[in-house]
Amino acid sequence: MKKERYAVGVDLGGTFVKYALVSDSGEILFTGKLPVGMNATREDTLRTIQKSIQHVVDESIEKGVKLQGIGIGSPGIVYNGVVLGGADNLDRWENIDLAGIYSKEFDLPVFADNDANVMGMGEATFGAAKGCSDVVFITVGTGIGGAIIINGQLYGGYKNRGTELGHVTIKYDGIDCNCGGRGCLEAYASTGALIQQYAKKTNKDIADLDGHYIIRKFKENEPEAVDCMKNHTRYLGQGIAGFINIFAPQKVVVGGGISEAGQFYIDMIKETAFRYAMPDCSVNTDVVAATLGNNAGCLGAAMLVFRG
Ligand SMILES: [Zn+2]
Repeated sequence: MKKERYAVGVDLGGTFVKYALVSDSGEILFTGKLPVGMNATREDTLRTIQKSIQHVVDESIEKGVKLQGIGIGSPGIVYNGVVLGGADNLDRWENIDLAGIYSKEFDLPVFADNDANVMGMGEATFGAAKGCSDVVFITVGTGIGGAIIINGQLYGGYKNRGTELGHVTIKYDGIDCNCGGRGCLEAYASTGALIQQYAKKTNKDIADLDGHYIIRKFKENEPEAVDCMKNHTRYLGQGIAGFINIFAPQKVVVGGGISEAGQFYIDMIKETAFRYAMPDCSVNTDVVAATLGNNAGCLGAAMLVFRG
């Protein structure tokens, strides 16, 4: 019998730290989450991560399982285990040596990467793109994050500062984007953008809206919702067509809450993606919904440990 290996997977988000005890076959033996308060300081957040890891360490002792290391997914630019910056939702989340801090604390090797990267790694290893070597992952939410896997390895550009798939221009001189640019995919195709567009069309308050609501209205054939969803999926499809032309992935995995709407959602995206992608580039590509949901981050983070 193959001996399984085990690791701690930590997924730091803007509102929660999720954590899990994960085997290298992708089994989750234990999982939990701790809130990151709206006003959490940098020190608070570091302490919450510490507690999360401690929970898994305690559980591993209880289960008699030997841990091989700790993997952490964090918002922002992460290079060599250090968060360099770029995580605007977390207090002073820059120049933090996550690997240094927690390897000292727990006497285990610690690996860290960007949160979207670890989610992509999770989906490529255990989820929708299991068995694929070349994968493009995008997560559609308030913004759009992305990960590129080439030859089974995360590709991050020089010093891991790239693969901002939400920030490719799809409209010249288009609407302002959170990144400081204009006309980015994120500004047109994120769930945030969908909600904004729908609110504008219906004169509804953004605070009362979310993706679920618009999907429901779409299914009820409400003209405004149908219109907004068509736009949303066309923009996404256009962006994905570009990614297919560059990377010729086996799978484009679409994650984020809205990707769970149903196959119709993926089909709408596919229609545009394959209309505009070059046939020579897309011949081996499929566009699919993510399958790991909220577990993608912890699974991918643990994977950072197993791949070493
Ligand atoms: Zn942008």
